[in-house]
Amino acid sequence: MEKIRRVLVVGGGVGGLTAATAFARRGVEVVLIERRPAFDVPGVGLGQPANALRVYEALGVLPDILASGFCYDHMCIFDPKRELIVRHKFLLGDANIPAFCALSRRRLHDILLAAAEKAGVEVRCGLTANEIHEQPNGVTVDFSDGRTDSFDLLAGFDGIRSATRLHLVGTAFVPRPSGYGAWRLQVPRPGYVRGMEFLQGIGSKAGAMPLADDLMYLFHIRPEAPDAVFEGEGLRNTAAMSPTSRRRSMQIRTSSTARSSR
Ligand SMILES: Cc1cc2nc3c(=O)[nH]c(=O)nc-3n(C[C@H](O)[C@H](O)[C@H](O)COP(=O)(O)OP(=O)(O)OC[C@H]3O[C@@H](n4cnc5c(N)ncnc54)[C@H](O)[C@@H]3O)c2cc1C
Repeated sequence: MEKIRRVLVVGGGVGGLTAATAFARRGVEVVLIERRPAFDVPGVGLGQPANALRVYEALGVLPDILASGFCYDHMCIFDPKRELIVRHKFLLGDANIPAFCALSRRRLHDILLAAAEKAGVEVRCGLTANEIHEQPNGVTVDFSDGRTDSFDLLAGFDGIRSATRLHLVGTAFVPRPSGYGAWRLQVPRPGYVRGMEFLQGIGSKAGAMPLADDLMYLFHIRPEAPDAVFEGEGLRNTAAMSPTSRRRSMQIRTSSTARSSR
């Protein structure tokens, strides 16, 4: 393959933004397309272990991430009455990199998007690739807005139902429902929640993940019908929260978990 000068990154999630920034910082011209019309990222929070934090350090965004998130080095598994079963210490950190830092997914996204734009990535929202045509030294792509463009490389980061993966390997890795869904809600963090907590039940589990000094999310992973669909906005509910927490921006989101068929 000739020298790579121009890359198309498909998908503006954590993976796509990170890869796009890394390419651009090496002098490659990068176009990133994102199917959503805007970066109003759904999701509640993301825990990033030290290996991910080392990548953020290389991209120059680690200080922002650490300033926005909550660092910790352990998770605890409890029984349903919060009696400790096991405390597990994370060992990937070192003197410079914390073992783990979790933060609001929206905040992480804002940081990564700013880094991509600063590195010179051209971000186009509301766009997908209709057709990918393989060429001897790259690809030609027909976009959903009718335009066609050529690139030395296409990097697919378009998520669990990736159209790029479908193009490359067909349906071999199409995800199928695991039968579980994850319900999550941002709430104020009480001082005693200082690491990831799992309360293991029978057939489901609940828990908490710190996201900032004053914020964490609660989760409940439980069986859901494989074809269940929940409209996110209709699920927003602050009625059960304290007056203080009601003033905060609350989110309830569901994500139906899926696993690859292999
Ligand atoms: C409930 C839950 C909790 C999780 N918690 C953690 C955690 O704590 N820590 C952790 O590391 N991971 C966690 N994960 C996993 C993590 O979310 C994924 O690994 C991560 O989001 C994958 O990033 P990505 O950029 O590859 O894909 P995604 O984040 O899925 O981003 C894909 C992007 O591509 C866009 N897109 C899709 N199709 C197209 C198309 N055809 N054209 C253009 N754009 C397209 C989408 O709109 C999206 O913006 C969790 C997942 C779930 C469901």
